[in-house]
Amino acid sequence: TPLKNIRNFSIVAHIDHGKSTLADRLIQMTGGLDLREMKAQVLDSMDIERERGITIKAQTVRLKYKAEDGEDYILNLIDTPGHVDFAYEVSRSMAAVEGSLLVVDASQGVEAQTLANVYHAIDANHEIVPVLNKVDLPAADVERVKTQIEDVIGIDASEALEISAKTGLGMESVLEAIVKRLPAPKGELNAPLKALLVDSWYDTYLGVVVLVRIIDGVMKKGQKIRMMASGAVYELDRVAVTTPKLVEVKELTPGELGVFTASIKEVADTNVGDTITEDKKPTDKALPGFRPAQPVVFCGLFPVDASDFDELRAAMGKLRLNDASFSFEMETSAALGFGFRCGFLGLLHLEIIQERLSREFDLDLIATAPSVVYEVEMTNGETQYLHNPADLPDVMKIAEIREPWIKATILTPDEYLGAILKLCQDRRGIQTNLSYVGQRAMVEYELPLNEVVFDFYDRLKSISKGYASFDYQLAEHRAGDLVKLSILVNAEPVDALSMLVHRTVAESRGRVMCEKLKELIPPHLFVIPIQAAIGGKIIARETVRAMRKDVTAKCYGGDATRKRKLLEKQKAGKKRMRQFGSVEIPQEAFIKALKMG
Ligand code: GDP
Ligand code: MG
Repeated sequence: TPLKNIRNFSIVAHIDHGKSTLADRLIQMTGGLDLREMKAQVLDSMDIERERGITIKAQTVRLKYKAEDGEDYILNLIDTPGHVDFAYEVSRSMAAVEGSLLVVDASQGVEAQTLANVYHAIDANHEIVPVLNKVDLPAADVERVKTQIEDVIGIDASEALEISAKTGLGMESVLEAIVKRLPAPKGELNAPLKALLVDSWYDTYLGVVVLVRIIDGVMKKGQKIRMMASGAVYELDRVAVTTPKLVEVKELTPGELGVFTASIKEVADTNVGDTITEDKKPTDKALPGFRPAQPVVFCGLFPVDASDFDELRAAMGKLRLNDASFSFEMETSAALGFGFRCGFLGLLHLEIIQERLSREFDLDLIATAPSVVYEVEMTNGETQYLHNPADLPDVMKIAEIREPWIKATILTPDEYLGAILKLCQDRRGIQTNLSYVGQRAMVEYELPLNEVVFDFYDRLKSISKGYASFDYQLAEHRAGDLVKLSILVNAEPVDALSMLVHRTVAESRGRVMCEKLKELIPPHLFVIPIQAAIGGKIIARETVRAMRKDVTAKCYGGDATRKRKLLEKQKAGKKRMRQFGSVEIPQEAFIKALKMG
């Protein structure tokens, strides 16, 4: 296809503003799929994505469109991941296209994720077409939202499109705007092959499938390619475009988006952002901006039933096949036995993996407190990277502990602002800005990531009745007065509950943990002390009182069936408990104890 007849674009939007609906409409109008194949929201392929309304893996659809000027165009729509945890993937997807449709719900206006995503598009030098969606709703206020887009984002909204992706109103104008207002890609057909590795995923039938954007040169079946960052060489088995069905093509030329397979074993062998070239005739310069994915949040995952360990390992291996940014290695915990230390790109990523393990693989898991990566500078000048608070070296040998900070943006209706400021303040936040976006307040805070990983989202959602939106970016590591808080149950330290906290909040947090565990640990035949300690010093203490009788004593001897049922119930309950010395702690106690409430 000649460059002048190609347009590549992405859709940026806040969750629920209509990105999937719009994409579906475009696919429907340009006929990539027949009706039978056109199931709702084809772009969101996994169940969890669909339920949560987020897109994890970028996918691409090639659309054919005959424009009003009489020419045939190829429009490549790239679907970008919708969440900050996948910011690097978003930026690579954006680098693969020249323009964006900025979709804003005309009844809601600009939200935190609208901003985060549109900034990626601006960074990538995109031409941006504002699209006001849901104008069919009575609450739509087109003029207000246009002003908002101009004031807050700073782009011209005078020619914003006004559409309803749901009813189909104004859809032709979207296709025409893509052709007329977005620039055609550039590239050299005769130069050595240069392609951007945008994404990759594991397909049960095809193996690893790699999505690329061709910058220069030609990619075709049988060619030997080289990944420039990893140095690995592969022979291409198959070169195709996605409509979104895979359709094999003879070759991919500059400006095109397409996929290939090359007997690559694992997704981990492909690095998003890498440059692909021809092995025999390589380009002399890789594309800028490559960096390997770095996990920022870690936690331990342990099977509730120790005999599920092998199954858990197999399940994690399967997830890893499709998600190179999820890492795990074996770990043993004095309290929890054998399990894995897992690394994630962020909180949502952690939740998704945990949910998939329990839902798709039917595994009962205990997750330890999520931890960020601390930089621990030792007195001998060495720096250690700490993923697990339980591994904190001897404090006497530590010169300084540095923790990661984030820059957070929160948009909220005015009435919840007070409560939100308090929440951020309680989490050691530093307010850097407060302004208004139409009716809503936009607050910017610097926050320690450590304070956000537990239940910040949940708290924010509950105090704002779901109206506040949140987005963040990693900033730098900063020194902090951090101490290790240990929890002892019946005088035994429970490593899974230990965490690093700021000294100023250590005591109150220790107290809350003890109070909660007191409620969560059932009575035993003996008294159980629960203590919180910093170093050797006990800072809080609670006691679980001893139980008087065993459960069956209630049933006056006679009723054997009832007695058996109660014992069975007890046994089932036990399966969900973990033994700590002589104390049994229910699984949910771990999660609940870690929520600060
Ligand atoms: P996404 O999260 O941005 O992908 O949003 P979806 O496309 O999943 O849409 C979120 C919700 O808004 C769904 O219930 C859609 O049916 C609805 N929706 C999308 N576009 C329109 C529209 O133009 N008008 C109305 N009334 N509802 C819409
Ligand atoms: Mg969607």
